[in-house]
Amino acid sequence: MARKIGSRYTANQILGRGSAGTVWLGEGPEGPVAIKLLREDLASDQELVGRFVQERTALLGLEHPNVVSVRDLVVDGNDLALVMDLVRGTDLRTRLDRDRRLAPEAAVAIVADVADGLAAAHAAGVVHRDVKPENVLLDMQGPLGPGGSHPALLTDFGVAKLIDSPRRTRATKIIGTPDYLAPEIVEGLPPRAAVDIYALATVLYELLAGFTPFGGGHPGAVLRRHVTETVAPLPGIPDELWQLIVQCLAKAPASRLRASELGTRLRELLPLVAGMPPLDVDEPDAEPAEDETPAAEEAAPRDEEVRRRGAVPLVPGAKPADSNRDTHTSMRVPAPDELAGGARGTARVPRAAGAPRPGSARHRAVARRRRVALGAAAVVLAAAAGVGAWLATSEDDAGATPQDMNNTAPATP
Ligand code: ADP
Ligand code: MG
Repeated sequence: MARKIGSRYTANQILGRGSAGTVWLGEGPEGPVAIKLLREDLASDQELVGRFVQERTALLGLEHPNVVSVRDLVVDGNDLALVMDLVRGTDLRTRLDRDRRLAPEAAVAIVADVADGLAAAHAAGVVHRDVKPENVLLDMQGPLGPGGSHPALLTDFGVAKLIDSPRRTRATKIIGTPDYLAPEIVEGLPPRAAVDIYALATVLYELLAGFTPFGGGHPGAVLRRHVTETVAPLPGIPDELWQLIVQCLAKAPASRLRASELGTRLRELLPLVAGMPPLDVDEPDAEPAEDETPAAEEAAPRDEEVRRRGAVPLVPGAKPADSNRDTHTSMRVPAPDELAGGARGTARVPRAAGAPRPGSARHRAVARRRRVALGAAAVVLAAAAGVGAWLATSEDDAGATPQDMNNTAPATP
């Protein structure tokens, strides 16, 4: 089942499947590599291929121990492939699904690693734009760090220009993963480095708590919470660590720490959290069974759609859609008055009877199921986002030629 990719690589075995294509264990001139082979329908999109080629410099230039390096881009007939460092391990989502919550020491060490990787990217003018546990790989062959954590590497750089291209989205649409989206993106501002810090602080909160601070329910409700709600404190968390999270979840991008500073501050906190057990966060599973309807929930809106999903329309007339933390969401940017509570007055509606509480095991199970049962539009968006993730958001493209490009058909539209 081995296949040639360009003139220099062989793909031998499937490592995993993502939204944009398949990742293979491959072999190149310098040894084993991971090869992400783009889905055929995306690879045949001439505009997309053009951008892919255009932006290669930013991608290939990024080298850091906490970044999954891209070694080569291959355009060969119908194949469009990204050759990257092989990471033998697992992704952070898988780890979180298994452990539910991480001990603070491990969580801090992992997030400090990612912050260091981000610092390198930001210094190179690259904004990631899709920081989430799925895009953090844990290198199981690397040395064990604080709290028994493996080195963490950030992958899938940038839900990039590709997604922002006029043909793919209109200026009024938001693309991103709802749980990790910074408020300024919801408000339509251009994403700068601070959006990555907000997303990373969300990941840190999630590693400690077992759920994201603003997730759950309709994507519109999630977006509104990012803009209007403050984060609820986690019981038992050391104050210095909590202050760091709060600062990086600041609504104003300028109030957040820079990546390099976040990395440094987190490492300084490691001795403080050494040996701490995972936080004893209020178990979100203590909730009524499906057939119980407590008084508070009887007041919930009777609308069927709302009942079923615990959904709230972000803007009047918007149709509730499915919620999914891995799915890229696309919707109209709400007007300021709508964000201020015009739709229903409060960011958190009472959960519909039987609807899983955000962050609960059942909520996660539902989210997992939804990952499989995405609507067609969401799949297309997520796929496009996955591709965009390859195209880092650097303004600069000096036009250096990756080796393999010379040997293969350049697909300039
Ligand atoms: P997408 O972002 O397009 O959805 P992913 O990058 O998450 O796809 O890749 C899907 C799977 O492939 C991952 O869950 C992981 O198991 C594997 N994978 C991705 N990149 C690498 C890599 N550099 N080294 C090893 N395995 C990888
Ligand atoms: Mg990914």
